[in-house]
This record gives sequence, structure tokens and C-alpha cells, in this order.
Amino acid sequence: MSVLSIIRDCLDALLHPSARNDALTCARHRAFIAPRLLGSLGAFAIFPAYLAMRGAPSALEVGALAWLIAPILLSWFLSRTGRYEGAYALSSLALSALIMVVAIETGGIESFAAVWLIVIPLEAALSASRRVVVFAAMLALACVATLILIDHFESLPRAESNPALRASLIGFGVASATLYAAVLAFAADALARTSVVLLSKEEERYRLLARNMSDVISRHRRNGAVMFISPAAETLLGVPAMQLHEHGLFERVHVADRPAYLTALSDAVRGSEASSVEFRLRRNVPVDSCGSNHLVEFIWVEMRCRPLDRAGPTGVGSEAEVVAVMRDVTDRKLQEQALDVARGAAERADAAKTRFLATMSHELRTPLNAIIGFSDMLVQEQNLMLNAARRREYAQLINDSGQHLLSVVNGILDMSKMESGNFEITPEPFAARTALISCCNLLALRARENGVDLSADVPQNLPDITGDPRAFKQIVLNLVSNAIKFTERGGKVTVAAAADEAQLVLRVSDTGVGIAPDDLKRIGDPFFQAGKTYERRHEGTGLGLSIVKSLVSLHAGEMSIQSKLDEGTTVTVVLPLAFAPPDEGKIMTLAPAGRTLPQGQAFQVKKSA
Ligand code: ADP
Repeated sequence: MSVLSIIRDCLDALLHPSARNDALTCARHRAFIAPRLLGSLGAFAIFPAYLAMRGAPSALEVGALAWLIAPILLSWFLSRTGRYEGAYALSSLALSALIMVVAIETGGIESFAAVWLIVIPLEAALSASRRVVVFAAMLALACVATLILIDHFESLPRAESNPALRASLIGFGVASATLYAAVLAFAADALARTSVVLLSKEEERYRLLARNMSDVISRHRRNGAVMFISPAAETLLGVPAMQLHEHGLFERVHVADRPAYLTALSDAVRGSEASSVEFRLRRNVPVDSCGSNHLVEFIWVEMRCRPLDRAGPTGVGSEAEVVAVMRDVTDRKLQEQALDVARGAAERADAAKTRFLATMSHELRTPLNAIIGFSDMLVQEQNLMLNAARRREYAQLINDSGQHLLSVVNGILDMSKMESGNFEITPEPFAARTALISCCNLLALRARENGVDLSADVPQNLPDITGDPRAFKQIVLNLVSNAIKFTERGGKVTVAAAADEAQLVLRVSDTGVGIAPDDLKRIGDPFFQAGKTYERRHEGTGLGLSIVKSLVSLHAGEMSIQSKLDEGTTVTVVLPLAFAPPDEGKIMTLAPAGRTLPQGQAFQVKKSA
């Protein structure tokens, strides 16, 4: 270990704890203590040699030597209190006292020591404190004035009368003062260099941090305008940071989120608390390597902002400002959204199960009760003395109930097959007009019984369609029977079809009870029936429309419903005229109701083996 590093370690041990954490303060304290301590100790060390050369010292020399204890005391003061300005003020006092004593003893203002008064404010300049420099300058001037006054009123010991000795004494005074001033100038230069190096190191450290942080740091005016934004914004938003200055960032905030964004900033300006907000930001995603073309997408960010703390060294200016930290939370948001969708699906599934149980208990129990009741009567035909016509009537009722049960069970099976992707459709060309007319004929009797006017508006030249004819009929039968079921006596049901470019547009409209807007959103969910269960006047399982929806979806078509309560309902089905399964032989699954599938899997078919 070198002598220099030992001295350095000893000096560091003397530093006040508050100076050890900050490099610049540490350098300043070291620059104050080192020359004083080393100078004084050195002077004490060479004093015996001086005595040997000079012989018995004069009273002035002894006094000056005793004064050397002052720098040691000053170093001790700084090391114990850490008060840098105070230490320099005391140092100025000590130096001026020493100069005054020597000057008074050696000719007052004419003394060789008087020139040292210039050094007092120069030394104080090292404190980097205006107050201390002003104090030191006033002190030096006061000393000069005192020396002139004393010279004027009192007879001081005259300056050396021997001109040669006097000249050499003045020469010594000026030279030593110049030397000390030069040492001070070097010290000031060294301190300035140290502070520049430290500042640039610190700046580089912050720049490095800002560059390598994925979070974006920004500084805003009270109106939200950006004054500074860290380079991480370029990675986050795909644009140069300069473009985000002023209102550049605000213009990238999603219009719907702008009020929340501004509110968070103004809350941060007003209060002392940090505020947090989540909003969407527009981001440019380059599509080629040169970056001239880009796509635009929105990402979710979380921004935490707080009022700017002006207590720091750069706390200048009076306008209230806000500092903010932004981070990309898109992944979390997507997870939350996926969770919401899953929760919604689970809630819908639960509601569907409840509806299923409620509907099934009604739909299964009613025909089963009829079957058991009428078959019991047939068993006891002897006791009840039933005639042949009655027996036939009962047998017919049992048959009707069985048929109804079968259709309910078939509906459930169809639906579950479609949901699990096992429903088979066999596309083939067929005459859509013939299929429509035959469905209307099938339901004409029921319409007549219900007192509903059923009419078909199907042009003669309606083109053939390629699809599954059984599925097509099922769609039409379900829609038309619903229209008849939910239309009061005297109402009207119209079945209209037309070809529109490569599509067949089928419209089933009625003047019936209609569907409330709240229910309309959920119509087509399995087992969902509009209105409250206890208000139901019609039989049904709540599967008809969801089967239609699924079949239409299997044919790459679309179904929409327009309805107004007490005015009527129109169900529109759009089917491609030439349907071709997307990938022959590939097994695909129908999306269960309420779930959306990635693009390309909107409809799904299992080809029969
Ligand atoms: P349901 O077996 O109950 O008829 P659907 O799935 O066919 O089942 O219909 C679901 C619900 O949609 C029905 O219960 C009814 O409330 C409503 N709905 C369907 N079609 C019509 C229509 N044409 N007019 C009024 N409401 C309708």
C-alpha cells in the first residue's frame, strides 16, 4: 500500500458521515482538511530544524507557530460537524487574525503581511458559497480599515528601517501571498474539474438507467404537455421520443381514455399524493425493416404520476409539474379480459344449466304425465267402460306426447352434437324455393289453427343453393313455427327469400308479441327463453333458435334478429348460395354458444367418415 493511499484512507476516516455518501461533498471536505492538516503537521515537524538554524525564536515566531494549531482545530471542526461553509468562515477569521497580529507587530498597513489580506476572500471562494465569500471580503476590508486607523491614531512599531531588509521582507510577503493564491487557484481548478467529472458521471449514470429501463419516465406541465420523456418511449411506442414532446403523447392516448389521463395528471398537480391511471396508447409497429411502413395498434399502459419534488438541486421555476412512470400492462389487461370472458362464459353456462333444468322439468314432465295418465286409463278400460273412439283418442294423445318427447330429446341431442363438433352436414345442391314452400305447407295447418295468416313471398327464379337440405328445412321450420307460436290470433307471418349476389337472404317476419331489448341480446343462447318463466304461455325448450344459429354458422352464414315488443319480430338468415366446407376431411368443432373462436374457425364441420 503506498503512502498516498494510507494518507487518503486516514483522511477518509476523518470525514463527517454526511460527506461520505456524496462524492462531490467528499472531495470538497478532503480538499479542506488535507492541506491544513498536512501543512500544520509538516510545520511542526520542521520546527526543531528551524530552531537549530535560527537559534532562540522571537515572541512573534513563537506566536505564529502556536497559531499553526488553528488549521488542525478547523479540520477537527469540519470533521465533527460537517458544516463546510462554517469551516471556511472560521478559516477566514483565523487567517485574518494571524495576518492582523503579524501586521500590527511589523508596521501596520505598510507591513509585508498586509498583502496577505487579499488572500482571505480568495480562500473563501473555495467554499463555493457566496455568503462566505462576501463575509471574507468584508472581513479583509475591515482588517485593512483597522490597520489604516491604527496606523493613523497610534504609533506602531515602524516597518523595517533598513531599506534592503524592508524590500526583502515585502518581497517575501508578496511572493508567499502569490504562492498561496496560486495554490488556492489550483485547488479551485481541481475542485471544478472534480465536480464536472462527477456531474457528467452522474448524468451518464441516469442516462444509462433511462436508456435501459423498460419503464418510461416523463415530466409534464400542469396541462399535460410533455417536457421530457425517456428514450424507453421509443421502444414502447415505435416513434422518436421528440415526437412525444408537448402534446405528442396526448394525441396518442385513446380518445375514450383522454379524460382519465388528464384527470390523473391534474390530480397529481393538485395533491401531494401519487395517482395512478390505466389507458390505451397508440403504437406504431413497423412492417418492414426500413420502418417506412407501419401498422397501428393500441397497447395498455399504467401511469403513476406525482408532483415534481422541487427540493432537489435543480428545483428551479415556479410552475407546478408532474413526473410520471409508464409501463406496458397489455399482457395483464389481456389476461383480465380473458378472465372476464371465461367468467362470463361460466356464468352463461350456469344460467343455461338452470334454464335447462327449469325448461326440461316442464317440457318432459307434461308429456310424460299425459302418457302415464292416458295409458293408466287404457289399462283400466273395463272399469271405466271406454268405447273404441275414446280408446283411439287416448292412444293418439299418448302418441302425440311420445312424438313431442322425441322432438325434445332430438333437439337436445342435436344441440350437444353441434357443440361438440359431431354434427354432420352433407352439402348438396337443392332447390331452395321447393324446400321453403314445403316447410310452409307443413306448418300451414298449425297457422290456421292458431288463426295466423301465413304467406310466402318466394320468387319463381330463386336459384338453387348448395348446402345441407335437412339443415335448411330445420332452419325454416324452427323460424316459421316460432313466428306462428309467438303471434296472436289475427296476426300475420311472412316468409320471404331473395338472392343477393352470391347469397340467399331469408326473412321470417311476424306481427307477434316481439322481444324486449334486454332479452334480444341473449336470444339464441341455448335454453334461453324471453320473458319470465312463469309468464310463459307457450311450450318450448329454448333450443330452436340456438339450433338455427348453429346450423347457419355451420353453413358460413349469419343470423340476425330485429324485434319490437308488441309489434313483431323479423329473423334474417343470410346463407352463401354455394357453400363448400373449408377443408375437406378435416374435423372441426363448432364454437359453443357465447364463445368466440380465432379467425378461420368461425364455423366447423365434421365430415362423415
Ligand atoms: P322455444 O322452444 O322457447 O321457442 P327458441 O329457441 O325457438 O325456443 O326461442 C327462444 C325464445 O325466443 C322463445 O322462448 C321466445 O321467447 C323468443 N322468440 C323466438 N322467436 C320469436 C318470435 N318470432 N317472436 C317472439 N319471440 C320469439
